[in-house]
Amino acid sequence: MQQLEFQLQEFPFPYTLTRSRRKTLVIYVKSGKVDVRSPLKASTKWINSFLAEKTAWIQAQLAEQRKKMQQRLVIAEGSKIELLGNPLTLQVAISGRPRATLQGSTLTLFVKEHKKDKLEKLFLDWLLEQARQYMPTMAKHYARQLGVDHKLKEVTFRKTRTKWGHCCQDGDIQFNWLLMLAPQPVLDYLIAHETSHLRYLNHSTKFWSTVEQLCPDYKNCRNWLTHNGHRLWP
Ligand SMILES: [Zn+2]
Repeated sequence: MQQLEFQLQEFPFPYTLTRSRRKTLVIYVKSGKVDVRSPLKASTKWINSFLAEKTAWIQAQLAEQRKKMQQRLVIAEGSKIELLGNPLTLQVAISGRPRATLQGSTLTLFVKEHKKDKLEKLFLDWLLEQARQYMPTMAKHYARQLGVDHKLKEVTFRKTRTKWGHCCQDGDIQFNWLLMLAPQPVLDYLIAHETSHLRYLNHSTKFWSTVEQLCPDYKNCRNWLTHNGHRLWP
């Protein structure tokens, strides 16, 4: 496999070219980077004309990804978040004893030094505590409503990129606790969704009508997550 980096004048973006034993030419635009995969002997002319043809699409993808990056959650002084419908403002303070304290609508993050990763960790730990207090109780509440509380085993938390929640056959439900930052109806929808899997371990019509029973506005909530989920990530 041969990998080369390019910045050609005719294209307004740099890209990486990887030649390998493949038959087709393909372009990936991910995390603001353009990655071209080509067959070993693909001619530069072919690659360039393919890129020229796709330039508008590539630029649109890059712009969309840039926009999403800018909308991401910033853990810093003055940042605004919402927790269970309560708007909170973040404050950063230096202290020898790292901790997070909530007073009124101000969440103060005390850190030893003003570093982005330290702030994020402190904030995420605090948020996990809030999730532990809310999400399992809500899952139990919904499970009782559906008459499947005997099937609910444990609620655990994991920060996964690929999904917001997960329900296993053995009755374990897993949530990404960043969901605590979503509007409350959206958060409750996701809890209702995973809890409904205790009844149906699929996405059948019966499953969705169970979700609807708990959360009549589930379609809007699901849409919100699709279009705004990236905003919850720091
Ligand atoms: Zn599901």
